Amino acid sequence: MKLLKVKGVVIKEIAYKDNDKIITLLTDELGKISCMAKGAKKTNSALLASCQLFVYSEFVLYKGTTFYHINSAESIDTFYDLRIDLDKYEKACEISKTLNSLVYENVEASGILSLFLNTLYVIAKKDLDFSYVKSVFKLKTLALLGYSPSITRCSNCNSSMVEKEDKGYYYSFNTNSVLCGVCYEKLKKENEDKLKSGWYIKLSQATFYAIYYVLASDSKKVYSFKIDKKAEKELEKVADRLYTEQLSF
Ligand SMILES: [Zn+2]
Repeated sequence: MKLLKVKGVVIKEIAYKDNDKIITLLTDELGKISCMAKGAKKTNSALLASCQLFVYSEFVLYKGTTFYHINSAESIDTFYDLRIDLDKYEKACEISKTLNSLVYENVEASGILSLFLNTLYVIAKKDLDFSYVKSVFKLKTLALLGYSPSITRCSNCNSSMVEKEDKGYYYSFNTNSVLCGVCYEKLKKENEDKLKSGWYIKLSQATFYAIYYVLASDSKKVYSFKIDKKAEKELEKVADRLYTEQLSF
């Protein structure tokens, strides 16, 4: 029996029999895994604290036939602020549901643990608009899973969309790519059908750079930009569309 030491956060818990729990852990090393936590519901259990939802711990476990089994655990961060505030707790639940719907078990999920922990931190400690947090979380998770929209170059003329004057940014919900304003106007004159089939929305420059920032930045810094309400709505549209598209596969 080989013992493994991993750091992970509980993203789901199910009561099992009288005293046990089956918990879902998000780890860096093993991705998302299901674990049997024997006796974790007992008040005197050494696993009690570490096997609660949103607690981040170091676990010692071994692989069984169906589950991993937890041998011991030591909590690193309990995210206490989430536990004493129902509103924050519910927000964290919504984020973990999103995470569970996108990430499959036993597949590589590099960087997602760090993103999820940072998101819990932001919900616990910072008073950010929650729809903004959700949009950023969805977009960054999808990008980390390899479903990043292609926005750095115009999908028609291939010119760089970054660091140039604002000629308009048109995002296609069909291809998850962008057209520059010049190409958009040109295509509108020449071939309106092509534009219709692309299902474009105009993005403000602020929204374009918000998306660009989320895709390019480190998971730990992904919430450190500010946008206005209009850009926030546009960002939400793009993130929600990408998210539902991914779920439908
Ligand atoms: Zn172009």
